[in-house]
Amino acid sequence: MRYEKNIDLTSLNTMNIRSIAEHYCQVCDVNQLVEVIKFSRKNHLDLHVLGGGSNVILPPTIDGFVVHIAIPGCEMVTVTDSMADFVVGAGENWHEFVQFTLNQGYSGLENLSLIPGTVGAAPVQNIGAYGVEIKDLLTEVSVIDVTSDDLTPFILKNNQLEFEYRNSLFKKNARRYIITSVKVRLNKHSPLKTGYGDIAGRLGESEMTALSVSHAVIEARKSKLPDVSETPNAGSFFKNPIVNREKLLALQAEFPNVISYKVDEDTYKLAAGWLIQEAGWKGYRDERVGVHDKQALVLVNHNQGRSEDILGLAEQVKVSILDKYGVALEVEPVVL
Ligand SMILES: Cc1cc2nc3c(=O)[nH]c(=O)nc-3n(C[C@H](O)[C@H](O)[C@H](O)COP(=O)(O)OP(=O)(O)OC[C@H]3O[C@@H](n4cnc5c(N)ncnc54)[C@H](O)[C@@H]3O)c2cc1C
Repeated sequence: MRYEKNIDLTSLNTMNIRSIAEHYCQVCDVNQLVEVIKFSRKNHLDLHVLGGGSNVILPPTIDGFVVHIAIPGCEMVTVTDSMADFVVGAGENWHEFVQFTLNQGYSGLENLSLIPGTVGAAPVQNIGAYGVEIKDLLTEVSVIDVTSDDLTPFILKNNQLEFEYRNSLFKKNARRYIITSVKVRLNKHSPLKTGYGDIAGRLGESEMTALSVSHAVIEARKSKLPDVSETPNAGSFFKNPIVNREKLLALQAEFPNVISYKVDEDTYKLAAGWLIQEAGWKGYRDERVGVHDKQALVLVNHNQGRSEDILGLAEQVKVSILDKYGVALEVEPVVL
C-alpha cells in the first residue's frame, strides 16, 4: 500500500474535474483500510471515500485523506436450486458484477446494467434504473464505522439502511460508514420488469430473458446518455422532484405534457429532465460546461470546468425551474 501526496484526481472522477488530494491511497483489503483510518485519525486528517468517482463533484483541492476503495472479490454463498447469495467486494465494478450474475443464470439486476461505479457505492444513493433499485435485492452490507473505537467490520441489514429514492443511511450520515462488501440475493426466475422507458419496445420479438433485458437496457442507456470517456459527466445531475397531487394537477393545468410517475395516492415524481428541457436548457453551453444536447438532466464538462462552473450552472438551472414551475430541484451527486 502506497501513501501518496498531492495526487491529481482528474482521471478518477467521471466529470473530469481537476482536484488535488492532499493525501491519497488505494486500499485493496480491510486491513489496509483500517490502517488508513488509524493514520488519518492520528494525523487529524478528514477522511474522504472515493469509489469510481461517477457521482461526485470534487473541489479544486481536498484537504485530508482520500481513500480509494479497490477491495476485490465475488463469492456465491448459500446456493440452492433456485437462488444464491452473492457477497461482493466494495471495489468491484458494478456493471461487471451485474454481467457476472446474469452469466451465472441469475436474474434481478438486469435493469441496473451499465450504471457506472463500484459495488460499494451502489447502496449509498440506492442506485436505481428502469423500475428497479438496489434496495430490492440487497440483503446486507459489511461496514466499518469510522467514528467508533472498534474498527472491526460489522453487518447492517437491509431494514437498517433507511433506503429511500436516491437516499440511504449512508447519505444521511455522510462519511460515517465505509462499506467493505455488499450481499445481494438473486433468484434464477425472478419476474422481469420491462414496463419502464422503451425497454419492451427494444426487446421486440426476441425471447424475453434476463440477459436480453440487460442488452435492451444497455442499448437504451447508450442511445440516451453521453459516454463519460468522450463527454465527462456525472449522470443525472438532479433528482426527480416529488410533489403531491394538488401540485401535480396545478402543473398539468398549465403544462399538459408534464411527465410524472405515480408513487402512491398523493405522491408523484416529476421527470426533472422534462422540466429542464422545456425551460430551454437542453444543449445550452458556456465556455466550460453545459447541459447535454440529448438528455437535459445531464450536465457536462466540455472544457476543463471546475466544480464552481458546474455548480454555478446547476444553480442557474435550479432558479429557472423554481421560477417557471414552482418546483425545487435537488442536486443528485455528492458535492465534496
Ligand atoms: C453516465 C452515468 C450514468 C449514471 N446512471 C445512473 C443510474 O441510472 N442510476 C443511478 O442510481 N445512478 C446513476 N449514476 C450515478 C453513479 O453511477 C452511481 O451513484 C454509482 O453508484 C456511484 O458509484 P461510484 O463508485 O462511482 O461512487 P463515487 O462517485 O466514487 O462516490 C459516490 C459517493 O459514495 C461514497 N462511497 C463510495 N464508495 C463507498 C464505500 N465503499 N463506502 C461508503 N461510501 C462510499 C463516496 O464517498 C461518495 O459520497 C450514473 C452516473 C453516470 C456518470
